[in-house]
Order: sequence, then C-alpha cells, then structure tokens
Amino acid sequence: MPRVEFIATGSELLIGRSLNTHVRRLAEALVPLGLQVARETTLPDDRSAIAAELRAALVRSQVVLVSGGLGPTCDDVTREAAADALGCALVEDAATLDRLRVRYLASGHELTPGRRRQALVLEGAAVLVNRVGSAPGQRADLEGGRVLFLLPGPPAEFQAMLEDHVTPWLRRHAGGLAPIVHVWMVCGLVEGEIIERLKEVGFDPGPLELAYCASPGQLEVRLTAPPDHKAGMARAADLVRAALGEHAYSETREDLAAVVGRMLQHRGMTVAVAESCTGGLIGQKITSVPGSSAWFRGGVVAYANDLKTRLLEVPGELLAAHGAVSEPVARAMAEGARRRLDADFGISTTGVAGPDGGTPDKPVGLVWWAVADREGSRALSRRFFGDRATIREWAAQMALDALRRRLIR
Ligand code: ATP
Ligand code: MG
Repeated sequence: MPRVEFIATGSELLIGRSLNTHVRRLAEALVPLGLQVARETTLPDDRSAIAAELRAALVRSQVVLVSGGLGPTCDDVTREAAADALGCALVEDAATLDRLRVRYLASGHELTPGRRRQALVLEGAAVLVNRVGSAPGQRADLEGGRVLFLLPGPPAEFQAMLEDHVTPWLRRHAGGLAPIVHVWMVCGLVEGEIIERLKEVGFDPGPLELAYCASPGQLEVRLTAPPDHKAGMARAADLVRAALGEHAYSETREDLAAVVGRMLQHRGMTVAVAESCTGGLIGQKITSVPGSSAWFRGGVVAYANDLKTRLLEVPGELLAAHGAVSEPVARAMAEGARRRLDADFGISTTGVAGPDGGTPDKPVGLVWWAVADREGSRALSRRFFGDRATIREWAAQMALDALRRRLIR
C-alpha cells in the first residue's frame, strides 16, 4: 500500500480561527479504498516552511496531498512553495486562464494580476477542474511513481476535489481492498469493564484491531480486520457481541434516540419526557429523528419547582422533603409526564449540571433519571464528571438508555 501524507496549510488553522476539517474528510475518503493517512502536518502560510515540508514528505510518502493557499491573495503561496520543492517552473495554463476570465467577468469582476496567478500550474502537472470555485487543483506525477496533489482550501472546493479527482485517481492507481469494520455503540459500560468481559468470553484479537472511542453517554467499540479475514472477523464479532450483550444498542452507528424510537414504533407505543437539568436536550434528540411524531408525544421542561408541581403533578411535599434532585422527584416527574401528556412511557431527568449549585450530599454531576410505565416507575442515579455540557449529555443519554432497557425487558 502506498503511504499517504497530508499537509494542511493556513495560518488560521494554527491560531484557533478555523478547525482543520480537511484531514477528516480525506481520511473518510481513503478508508473505503483500503488507504490511510499516515501523517498529517499543519503549516502556516509560509512559502519556505511549506517547501521544506514538501521535500521531506516526498521522500517519506508516495502520495502527498496539500490543501489551501491556491487562491488569489498574497498569502496564497502553495503554488510557489511546490515549485521550489520540485525545482520546476510555474507556467500559465491557457484553459484555466480562459475559465477564470469568464468566471470573473460573469460576476462583474476584473481579472486582476492577483487573480490571474490562479492559472499558474507546476510545469507538466495535470490541471484538476474546480467545479465549485476559481482556483483549480493540480496533480504532479513525479519520479518513482510518486504523486503530489495541490488542492484548494475552501471546504466545499476541497470536498469536490476529493470526489472528482483524488478518489478516482487513488482508486485506479493506489487503492486496495478496504478493511472489514464492525462497530458497536454502547451505553452503560466503560472500557475497563468491556476489557474484562472480553477476557471472560475468551476474545483474542490476533491480527484484528479493537479500538474504543468514548464520548459523553456513549462508547463506540470498533473491530477492524484485514480484508482477507472474513471468517476470523465473523468469529471475533460473535464474541464481542456476546461480551457487550444488552449494553450495545446499535451495530450501525445509529443514534440512541433512533434506536429507542424504532423499538417504540414497533410496539405501537409512545413516550413523553419531563426534563429539568437537560432543559430540552432529550426532546431535541428525539425530534432530530425523522418520523418521531409516530412515537413522541411531547415534553415539559420544568426547571422551577412550582412548575414541576403545576405541570407534572409532582407533590410539593415530595420536593420539600427530598429536594428536586432526588429519586422520588425523578420518579414523580416521569409518572407525571406519562399521565399528563398521555403516553405509554414517561422519562425524566433531574440533576446538578454545575458548575455551581453543588452541596456535599448533592454534588455537581449528580443526576437522577427515571422511566415510568403503566405499572409504576424506576429511577437510577449516578454522579457524572465533566463540564455542564458533558453532564447534561450524559443525563439525556442515560434517560433514553433506561427506556431502551425497559423496552427489551
Ligand atoms: P481561496 O481562493 O479562498 O483563497 P485557497 O485555496 O487559497 O482558496 P485558503 O485561503 O487556504 O484556500 O483557505 C480558504 C478557506 O478555507 C479559509 O476560510 C480557510 O479557513 C478554509 N480552510 C482552509 N484549509 C482548511 C482546513 N484544513 N480545514 C477547514 N477549513 C479550511
Ligand atoms: Mg487563500
């Protein structure tokens, strides 16, 4: 497999102004081709730094892709840097010049000398037509089968270049078989627990790779096998599936709310939510799922205690005796939502999202959540760590997951 390397240029990427999203887009495009980004470098708009990095990259890697710095302004120096690195001239491409002239005239602009620079290409390079913007991309085929791509920086243009030029070229000249990938989305188990469970079922990765990617309220477990390990992958996947059990909610990266929705819809049942610390986050997750009107009744964001009583029928005595962040109040909220909003299930959250408002017995991060059905309700609690957004995300995921677990019972 050829080694693929990516160089992102742009001072704005190094001062926290823009996030380098190109490396992710490129990686996504490479994986189905059986290729991978071996190395990524981000550089400021500095001609000599870009040239030096290009020289080194072309020694290390067979495929080198550069993004940014092909525009008309004086900080766009990638063309010149590439010419320095390759020791070749820049020549004006007549067809590109025509395209630029037409393009600028059509929008009422003149083809100034700066804009004209965009028609300069590395001598002998292929011009990659940019269907979205003005500066074209370039592909230089070098000694020893090495190849250099120069690609424009604006995200829509970069994406179009990947689709129109880079991916087709790589597929023809460098692609291999894609690895076999299997993912599980997990809620309610941490990495250490999964490792223990895998040991218990006798999982041995061998040539397969097992990776974890944790985010608030969910963990992605990813098993990757070489293309020729189909049978081994099937055996390993069975073991991982057995180890994760009901803690895995999806094998397709499907969203937790979508999974819960499918289960409800299948049973012809509905849910209503009562949210305090999540402030509508659960409702937002649910209504992001297309077709959720079939199974979502609605929700109440009851932040103030008197609204918990007026809208959700949480008894005032309960609030006075236990406080809003408590098991009885979480249960009463879920029951109230179910009853008042006329649903089969009610789910609720109440917690201390922080950063202030914690007390010794109710610290920041303590959350209660509950699920109510016709027979009654059940609440669970945990203390989450992290900032306000992290704690709220955990709370929303756990409440949805509690309903999922109630539905598979
Ligand atoms: P232009 O003709 O717009 O000058 P260009 O090829 O010179 O195109 P840049 O000037 O480097 O590209 O970047 C143009 C825009 O694209 C900027 O807003 C920049 O923040 C954005 N951009 C560049 N590189 C990246 C990247 N790696 N990830 C995300 N955005 C990027
Ligand atoms: Mg630019």
